[in-house]
Amino acid sequence: MKPFGYVRAGSVAHAVQVAAERPGARFLGGGTNLVDLMKLGVESPPLLIDVSRLPLDRIEELADGGLRIGAMVRNSDLAAAPAVRDRYPVLSQAVLAGASGQLRNTATTGGNLLQRTRCLYFQDVTKPCNKRAPGTGCPAREGTHRDLAVLGHSEHCIATQPSDMAVALAALDATVHLHGPDGERSVPVTAFHRLPGDRPDRDTVIRTGELLTAVELPPALPGVHMRYRKARDRTSFAFALVSVAAVLAVRDGAVRHAALAYGGLAHRPWRARAAEAVLHGASATEDTFARAADAELAAARPLRDNGFKVALARNLTVGVLADLAARA
Ligand SMILES: Cc1cc2nc3c(=O)[nH]c(=O)nc-3n(C[C@H](O)[C@H](O)[C@H](O)COP(=O)(O)OP(=O)(O)OC[C@H]3O[C@@H](n4cnc5c(N)ncnc54)[C@H](O)[C@@H]3O)c2cc1C
Ligand code: SF4
Repeated sequence: MKPFGYVRAGSVAHAVQVAAERPGARFLGGGTNLVDLMKLGVESPPLLIDVSRLPLDRIEELADGGLRIGAMVRNSDLAAAPAVRDRYPVLSQAVLAGASGQLRNTATTGGNLLQRTRCLYFQDVTKPCNKRAPGTGCPAREGTHRDLAVLGHSEHCIATQPSDMAVALAALDATVHLHGPDGERSVPVTAFHRLPGDRPDRDTVIRTGELLTAVELPPALPGVHMRYRKARDRTSFAFALVSVAAVLAVRDGAVRHAALAYGGLAHRPWRARAAEAVLHGASATEDTFARAADAELAAARPLRDNGFKVALARNLTVGVLADLAARA
């Protein structure tokens, strides 16, 4: 085991200051991903800055009708919060579709959004991997890639972003709040995770030493119905092969509002803008839903063993939207 230091942050300012002073230090949320990666030798930070006890564990109502979710809110508390279950059920469903009860009791909102990919080669330090060791190559491209990306990947990396929560937040137009050495800033969640390009070592746009402090949700639109549906190899304790977060409003048989995001298809939650363009104003029929999915998935570039994801995403999209339309 490699020795490392540990400090418990007393405040956000303290956490950010210590991070600025110690290059390579990592914030510790619930530790359910970071500690696993340390055991595997994938991460070896010289210092852990424990932020799990910071007073960022509240879900607060905003004046405009939205919600502010502190970065230390545990996944279980987030999924169970009445305001989330009632007004943003897609978020509650997404969180409950992830991990296990024990993990969700420990995992934090910030840590969930910043968890690393589950690509097998990334987690195996005996293998090359551009994300873990830039410039060493991407063995997944020719190797095991059934679980990996079909959209937005690059020759350098075909990993997928694993968080279910992030997919629901993308469909809800959430905003991520960050606090770093240069002050505070906010980023739309759809722009927070990156595509791999030629820098797959960078999962998100977070800067060195920045702490994720909160996620904000805009007010839920009146008349919308929402759902998260996840296809995976077993019904619990498994990451998404494909998932869909859908928000839909239908009036007089036509789609009045549609927001759609995919998980399991790309290096970031994939907001389906092309599908949404087909849906807006169109009749709420299965034919429209299939055309919307096809418009989005036309950009897919599957590899040898993951072409099934395109058909799966199409079927999930049509099924979820048809269910939501039936409730309108
Ligand atoms: C067996 C298993 C199955 C799982 N299945 C799923 C699943 O199906 N779906 C799913 O979505 N997840 C799944 N997970 C992942 C689980 O949800 C994550 O491990 C968890 O959400 C990470 O949260 P954490 O607070 O423990 O993060 P940590 O492990 O503490 O941190 C993760 C990363 O985020 C950084 N970090 C933490 N908090 C902050 C912050 N506030 N600001 C900046 N950086 C921060 C850390 O430095 C680290 O790099 C699974 C995990 C396991 C072990
Ligand atoms: S897909 Fe990305 S994470 Fe996986 S081996 Fe290739 S570079 Fe590494």
